[in-house]
Amino acid sequence: MLSKLLALVALLVGVVQAQPIQLTLDLTDAPRKILRARLIIPVQPGPLTLVYPQWIPGEHGPTGPVDNLAGIKFSANGRDIPWRRDDVNMFALHLDIPPGVTSIEARADFLATAAPSGFSAGASTGPNLAVVSWNEVALYPAGTPAGEVRFEPSLQLPEGWKFGTALAEVARAGNAVHFQPVSLETLVDSPVAAGRFFKEIPIAPEISPKHFLDIVADGPEDLEISPAEIEQYGKLVREAGALYRSRHYETYHFLLTLSDSVAHFGLEHHQSSDDRVEARAFLDDDLKLLNADLLPHEFTHSWNGKYRRPAGLATANYQQPMKGELLWVYEGLTQYAGDVLAARSGLRTAGQYKEALAASAAELDHRPGRTWRDLQDTATAAQVLYGTSGEWDNWRRSTDYYEEGELIWLDVDTTIRKLSKGKKSLNDFCGTFLGLGGNTPPRVVTYTFADVVAGLEAIQPYDWKAFLTERLTSKSPHAPLGGIANGGYRLEYTGSQNDYTRATETHDHGVNAWYSLGFHTSDQTVQDVLFDSPAFRAGLGPGMKLVAINGRHANDELLRSAIRDAKANSAPIELIAENAGFFRVMKLDYHGGEKYPHLVRDSANRDYLDDILKPMVAR
Ligand SMILES: [Zn+2]
Repeated sequence: MLSKLLALVALLVGVVQAQPIQLTLDLTDAPRKILRARLIIPVQPGPLTLVYPQWIPGEHGPTGPVDNLAGIKFSANGRDIPWRRDDVNMFALHLDIPPGVTSIEARADFLATAAPSGFSAGASTGPNLAVVSWNEVALYPAGTPAGEVRFEPSLQLPEGWKFGTALAEVARAGNAVHFQPVSLETLVDSPVAAGRFFKEIPIAPEISPKHFLDIVADGPEDLEISPAEIEQYGKLVREAGALYRSRHYETYHFLLTLSDSVAHFGLEHHQSSDDRVEARAFLDDDLKLLNADLLPHEFTHSWNGKYRRPAGLATANYQQPMKGELLWVYEGLTQYAGDVLAARSGLRTAGQYKEALAASAAELDHRPGRTWRDLQDTATAAQVLYGTSGEWDNWRRSTDYYEEGELIWLDVDTTIRKLSKGKKSLNDFCGTFLGLGGNTPPRVVTYTFADVVAGLEAIQPYDWKAFLTERLTSKSPHAPLGGIANGGYRLEYTGSQNDYTRATETHDHGVNAWYSLGFHTSDQTVQDVLFDSPAFRAGLGPGMKLVAINGRHANDELLRSAIRDAKANSAPIELIAENAGFFRVMKLDYHGGEKYPHLVRDSANRDYLDDILKPMVAR
C-alpha cells in the first residue's frame, strides 16, 4: 500500500513537471531596446523561489544581466502575487503561491540597453535586428536541474522580420512563431538571430546533418557574401568533420550578425553559434582577416566545450558556480584548432596564419605579469578576468589561456609529430578525444586533467602530465615558444609591419609601438604601456592622450616617423601627454627603430607548420 501511494505521489509530481513553462517573447519593441516576456509557470501552492540564470555557459562567469530585467509582475486568476528579492542572492525571487493556484503568469521586460561591448549581455538589438539569448528572459524554480525543467518557447516578430535558430519551429500564425518544447538547457543553448535583412544559406549541402549560415545585418548591402566565401565556410564544415571524425548535433546554424549596433564577440552552442561582427565584415579586407577565425573557433566549441566539457564547467543549472581550471583546454585548444581550421578552409592564407601567430606569440613573450601569475591562475580566475579594461593587462595578465593555450597546443602537436616521426599528430587526439563515440545528438561528456593526459598518451606515449604542468605553472618571463621552434620557425622582429597588427591598427585607429617605445594607441589615446619599456620609464600610462610629438601636434604618422627618425640620431623622442587635464612632457630615450614580430623559417627543423596548415580533405 505504501509503495503504491509513493508511486501515485511520484506520478502526480511527474505530471506537474511534465507541464512546460510557456515563454512568449515579443520582439516588436526590440528596435527601441525592449524585449517583452510572458511566462506561464506551473506551480503548487506554498512558498516558491524562482531564479534568473546567473552563470552563463561559454561566458565562464556570473554574467546573467539581472540588472536589465524590469517590470516584473506575477499574477494568478486575475490577482497579483507579491514577490520579494532574496536579500543576498540577487538572482532569486521569493513568492507565496495561494491555495488552489496551479499556474502563475509572470511578465518581465528585458531592457536591451547595454553598451556594444562585453558578451551576450552586451548590446543585442538594432533598428532592424535582434539577437535573443533566452537566458535573458528565463525564470525557473530554484534547485531544478536545467536539463529537467521544460520550456515551450514562442516569438512574436516585428512585421517583415525573419530569423535563424537551432530550435525546431512547430507552428506559425502571422508573425507568431511557436517552437518545439525543450529543456531549459537546450533553450539557453539555442539563441535566435532575427531581423529585417536576413539570408539563410545552406553550406556543404552534401553533408548530413545539415549546416546553415544565417546572416542578419544592419542593411541589405551588408548581406553581400560572395560564392567563394560561402565555399570557404563549406570547406570549414568538411575540414571540421575530418578533424573531429564526428558531429554532435542534429543540425548546425552559424548565426552571423553583421551590425555596428551590437557587441562583437562569438558565443558557442551545441547546434549553433552566436557570431557578431561589424556590419562591413564581408566588405572590408582588414575585417575579413581579423574575423577569419571567429566561426572556426565557435564551431570547434560544439566538440570542445559543449560535447566534451571540463567537469568543473558542466554544472547542473545556471545558479551553480563554474570552475574554470581547464579553460586552457576548453578555450586554448579551441583557439589553436580554430586558427588551424581557418587556414585549412582558406579563410586565412598560411602567410596570414603565421603573421597572426607571430603577433600573439610576441605579445605573450612581452608580458611581465607572467612572472607573478602563472597560466593556470588565469584560467582559475577566468570569472573575474573577462571584464577587465585592458589597461595594464601586461602586468595583470588577463584571459591568456586563449592565446597561450594555442601556443601550448601547437607545442603538443609538433611534439607528437616529432616523437612519432610524422605518423601521429594532434589531429588524432582531436578525432579520438573530441570525436569520442562517433555522431551523437547534443550531450555532455565531461573530462578532467587526467583524462586529457590519458588521451594524449593513447596517441603518443610521453610524460604529458609533466609537459603540461610545467607550462601551466611556469613563472618564466618568456612565453612557451617551443611549438614555433619545433614547427620550423623563429620569432623575429623587423622594421616591416606585421600584416595582422597593421589590420588591428586600422581597426583601432591607432599605432602599435609595443616592441619599440612600449605602448599602443587608439585615436591618439594610450591604451596600454608595457612595463619597463622606454615609455614606462618616461612616465606614460594608459588613458593619457598624446598631444604633441617632438613639438608638433600629434598624429599617427608623426609617431611612426619619430620612431624611425630616432634611429639615426641620439636625441630622445619628446612627447607631450595629457592626463585628465594635466600636461606632462616626457623624453623617451629609444633608438631601435620600428619593430614588428614575424615568423622566420628555421631550416634546423622540418616545416611542421606547413604540414599542420594543409587541408585534410582532398580538393
Ligand atoms: Zn571560445
